[in-house]
Amino acid sequence: MKFLKITKEKVLDIFFPDHMKCIICGNEISHMKYDICDRCYEHLPFIVGRTCERCGQRIKTDDRFCDNCKRSGEFFFTRAFSPLQYTDTIVGLVHKLKYHNHQYLAANMAEVLYDKLSDEEIKCDVIMPVPMMDRKKKRRGYNQAELIAQELAKLSNMPIDTTTLIRVWEDNSQTALTSKERRENVRGCFKCTSKDYKGKNILLIDDVYTTGSTANECARVLRKQGRVANVYVLTFAHSEENKNIQGLTNKDK
Ligand SMILES: [Zn+2]
Ligand SMILES: [Zn+2]
Repeated sequence: MKFLKITKEKVLDIFFPDHMKCIICGNEISHMKYDICDRCYEHLPFIVGRTCERCGQRIKTDDRFCDNCKRSGEFFFTRAFSPLQYTDTIVGLVHKLKYHNHQYLAANMAEVLYDKLSDEEIKCDVIMPVPMMDRKKKRRGYNQAELIAQELAKLSNMPIDTTTLIRVWEDNSQTALTSKERRENVRGCFKCTSKDYKGKNILLIDDVYTTGSTANECARVLRKQGRVANVYVLTFAHSEENKNIQGLTNKDK
């Protein structure tokens, strides 16, 4: 019997090498939702309850919008959604995909996004990832937002377009900037190359939503240059960095 068990494990290992370990803790698992073990799944920071009608961030008050959105300037996207908060665990996953070549994680992330998309009943005509400049993509080997978008397109049967929205300029690091500075920093970074989607609804995909300045700039060019009707933004995680930005902005006032 022992011989049989070992053989079965070895066979599984050969055929499903990526699916034998939890993507968060690395413990051996049989097939689980999103390839996450029960223990890690229980601790996933899902965004539940009342959320901001613009950015999808959790809010505690009865207001329609969070403080950050109330203070921000004009929004060009209709609504943004994220299934998860950007906590340490999620930062770990995103960094593995983004900086350490764990490209298989894009499929797991897309599954989480697909469930969020179904819950929110968002209907769009086409999926577009937030683009990366060619030279940066060549250096990294891939654009993580594009990998997630490709997997989501397969799951949702929606078409994906990676050529209409392009990046023409790479902004400087946004980490230390306030919300307003971020908006100015990304202005002019993107271009919409056609009006093929005039009057259509676009689903924009990215890994993390921080202040929304990148998504907003993409939405601005899609609407102004591409004449699209609505841009919905779906990101894997929503950063709580807004709190810091909020602090900075208040201090600046
Ligand atoms: Zn685990
Ligand atoms: Zn908001």
